[in-house]
Amino acid sequence: MKLVTWEEIVEWSWGLAEKIRQSGYKPDVVIAIARGGYVPARLICDFLGIENLLSIQSQHWVEAAAKGEKAIIKFEYEVDLSGMNALLVDDIVDTGESVILARDFVKKRWKPKELRIAVLQWISPVAKIKPDYYYMEVKEWVWFQYPWTRLEDVTQFIKRIVTTELKEHGKKRWTYSEIKEYFKEWYGIEVDERYYRKAVENLVESGILSRESDDIYALNVK
Ligand code: ADP
Repeated sequence: MKLVTWEEIVEWSWGLAEKIRQSGYKPDVVIAIARGGYVPARLICDFLGIENLLSIQSQHWVEAAAKGEKAIIKFEYEVDLSGMNALLVDDIVDTGESVILARDFVKKRWKPKELRIAVLQWISPVAKIKPDYYYMEVKEWVWFQYPWTRLEDVTQFIKRIVTTELKEHGKKRWTYSEIKEYFKEWYGIEVDERYYRKAVENLVESGILSRESDDIYALNVK
């Protein structure tokens, strides 16, 4: 897992905007693929001076680093983009399925004059599509921990740690500091304290962990 900072997001989006500018393409409208494309799309609007920003939600991944069934377009709606140059923006092309689905939908239903794809990162060995613009080519698959999925990711990764440790070593009880230590060791990254706290709270709320005392958590076995 690779931690991505807000500063890196600004750098990468800046670099991506430069590539688009240098290509001579002048988008009239930016379309963010929800939810990962929101921040890069907004920054690209700023860096290229584009006022029109739309969004389409194409969902594929159900939980962090574990694939859902397939990609679907949520909340289909109609907009007329005829005569406009459009730019579809996402954070990453991994399998490429969400981007392909969004691209096909926009082309067929919103009918822009031209549609190009821009992403921060392109995982070239696994992707079914090469975006028109990418800031970074990734040659070996890795999970990028983007700042906008920090809590969601930390929650899911802690859940994975505690369920795996139960299965493999019969470990049922955890102290809060053990949870943090395992997280750092398993994933090789550290996040702000508030994310661990809230992630553990989330797991208690969803019934995966129970708080036995101040600092002891027990895994609820189904
Ligand atoms: P795409 O259609 O853009 O290739 P996928 O269908 O593979 O994307 O994944 C959809 C979304 O899941 C991405 O836009 C991103 O938000 C998230 N995602 C996929 N792969 C990764 C990864 N390796 N690291 C971080 N986030 C990812």
